[in-house]
Amino acid sequence: MAPGLPDRVDYVRLAADGARLERVYPLDAMPRMRDVLADACGADSHGSLAASFEFATLSTGRAGATVTVKAEVWLTCQRCLQGFAFPVDARSEIEFAASEFAAPQAPESQRELYAVTDGLVSLRELAEEELLLALPIVAMCVAPANCGAAAGGPRDVSGERSRPFAVLQDLLKKT
Ligand SMILES: [Zn+2]
Repeated sequence: MAPGLPDRVDYVRLAADGARLERVYPLDAMPRMRDVLADACGADSHGSLAASFEFATLSTGRAGATVTVKAEVWLTCQRCLQGFAFPVDARSEIEFAASEFAAPQAPESQRELYAVTDGLVSLRELAEEELLLALPIVAMCVAPANCGAAAGGPRDVSGERSRPFAVLQDLLKKT
């Protein structure tokens, strides 16, 4: 990471300022991604993740952020075991929650609670968390025609990302 770009930031102050931060992280530098990434067959790296963080003070008075993560992640298809590029372009609404201040969220809130202990949040960890949430539970080739083991012919899996549990059920039925 370039010097002068702090990773751990004071989210309350940033929210009060309405700050927007941008970061780029090599996927290889994200410890929780290492188990997920497929071998990139001789490639020097697994590419990078571009993240943006727009901080704001919410109507509840708490700090929140809109986090956007963009990356092309090299995953292993669970059907044919080939590596394939999975494009991620995800946006999440976060509400920061300090553990000692565990007031419940407003019931209508659609925001993800993100627990923070010491008033500082690691932007890298937050971006990594959001990237992991955006990945499919069961990775399968984005283009079914390319899937080496598509025994039943091409299937429509275009809605896969939005209904990962349906895909999982589908897999369970076959076993
Ligand atoms: Zn496949």
